[in-house]
Amino acid sequence: MKNLNSFDQVELPEMGIPYAWKCPGKEKGLTVTVLGGVHGNETVGVDIVQNLLLKMMQGKVQQGVLQVALGNIEAIKQGKRFIEKDLNRCFGHPKGKSIEEIRANQLKPLLMDTDVLLDIHGTIKPSKAFLGSPNPDHKLGSILPYIGLPTLITGEGYAAKGNPIYSDAFVAEAGGLGITIEAGWLEDPKVMQIQKNIHDALVMLGIFEGDKSKITPVDMQIWDAYWNVIAGENFEFTKDWQNFQEVPAGTLIATDPEGNGDVVTSQDSIILFPKSKANLVVGNEACIIARKKAA
Ligand SMILES: [Zn+2]
Repeated sequence: MKNLNSFDQVELPEMGIPYAWKCPGKEKGLTVTVLGGVHGNETVGVDIVQNLLLKMMQGKVQQGVLQVALGNIEAIKQGKRFIEKDLNRCFGHPKGKSIEEIRANQLKPLLMDTDVLLDIHGTIKPSKAFLGSPNPDHKLGSILPYIGLPTLITGEGYAAKGNPIYSDAFVAEAGGLGITIEAGWLEDPKVMQIQKNIHDALVMLGIFEGDKSKITPVDMQIWDAYWNVIAGENFEFTKDWQNFQEVPAGTLIATDPEGNGDVVTSQDSIILFPKSKANLVVGNEACIIARKKAA
């Protein structure tokens, strides 16, 4: 649960979207957007947006444009993942009138005008921090190792093409580089660490001033998400699977009678984003299955 009073006193030019701010630098450059609180109970991104707003008000944006926004306002206030619908499934072709579909439509112009998106999340179950991107091969993808988090998830099962329901996939389809920063377990947010990672990335992208030679890239380990497992009516995990848990080929991960059938790994894999029972939504992602990408 977050009190957003301090955000109501931000003195930056209005941009016509509630809880979204934009700050141009002195020189031309890239437009970078940082989102926090797309899931309202993942507070790490809200804290980081607050910190970036301070720097924006202090006139620290050097080059390009820095845009920051809070995601699901009502959910942030209530400390919930979402109110009616998962906002990070609403960037596709929403037709409904839910709080989240309305918010996704508000944020879309911001995302369409983005060269690089950093969307900050926390995981439901304990996890190391890692990156996700639907399009790491983008011309600006060379920034990824400089964020300092060596694990990257990508692939068809991470974000299917055609209906970009996730913020990062939406930016990718609009021509930008979409990056999700999973900051680790939402109950143990590593705000300072992730703040530093994002600051380094913003220096490398020219937004903030800083000594680029002091920021060293990490060796990336890339995971190919080959299966986005969707929950059916009677979907049930066979175990309380954890993030990055390794499963050999032939493992029965979940049963889903009358739904999409049994979920069995066809090759040695890892499990990502396994939803707890309370967070399973029929028709939505139950987990992602990934394999190590050959170097
Ligand atoms: Zn999230």
